[in-house]
Amino acid sequence: MSKVLVVAFDGVDKELIEEFKLDNIPQKEFGTIDNSTDVTTIVTYELFASFITGGTWKDHGVIGLTRPENNVLNSLENLRSIDLFQRTNEVRKKLYNLVPLIDGEFRRYNKKDLDSETFFEKIASSKAIDVPSYNLGYSVELMPILEKYGLKEAEKELDRFTNWKRWELFDEMEKDHDLIMAHFHKPDHIHHWYWEVGKMDKVEETYHEMDEFAGEILEKAEENGFDTVIFMSDHGLPDVENGGHNENAFYSCNHELFGDETPHITDFNDKILDLTDRESAGDVVEEINI
Ligand SMILES: [Zn+2]
Repeated sequence: MSKVLVVAFDGVDKELIEEFKLDNIPQKEFGTIDNSTDVTTIVTYELFASFITGGTWKDHGVIGLTRPENNVLNSLENLRSIDLFQRTNEVRKKLYNLVPLIDGEFRRYNKKDLDSETFFEKIASSKAIDVPSYNLGYSVELMPILEKYGLKEAEKELDRFTNWKRWELFDEMEKDHDLIMAHFHKPDHIHHWYWEVGKMDKVEETYHEMDEFAGEILEKAEENGFDTVIFMSDHGLPDVENGGHNENAFYSCNHELFGDETPHITDFNDKILDLTDRESAGDVVEEINI
């Protein structure tokens, strides 16, 4: 039985890890995650729902970045797997707001929206820290700050969230958990905000900052008995010339995990359940029976 720690660095691109010659993020096994789905866009929320449940959007029901509050509109929005539907996202959002008596607002997904179980429910002693499509709470209000007060203020707020989560992660690592998964959105935000204005040096600086953080995490993991440490990203990000989220998602592990095979983003769920033996979930059931 292994104690498992998963740290997600949102949007960290496998090719850039190599280009910037990071030391700690690429561990003993280092490879690409196949993040293809049959949805045309590569979107954070859908990808994390797949990672934590082991199914695709057809199983877990998370498609796109946000969902309409209204259930009828939400069923209609499942058509977002179709390319044409994706391209009319903005128009539809405007139309929904014009329909009388229907709440046309969109909101971020959370665990109540998931149609399938995650490994957090199956592993009794588990902790999710700010995981998208589950309990993301601290990274969502940055865009209004960016639009109203500019890049510097948004970055300050982002650093505040990042530090807060860093301390929460280190605190939780000292408690008795079989699984912790924490999500850090900073590399994705910084990349989106800066590459568009041609400042790849800022992106590189952030990668090195995350790499140093990964080094600290590895030290604490050893101190606290986490024998499996997985670093991962949901997608890669482009250089200045090429736009959009891309397929360069990475994972690394401090021991052999998938060997030479390229895992699909849905393959980690079973692997993590196997590693933790699901023993903890079994123990709880027995205790209740007694
Ligand atoms: Zn992402």
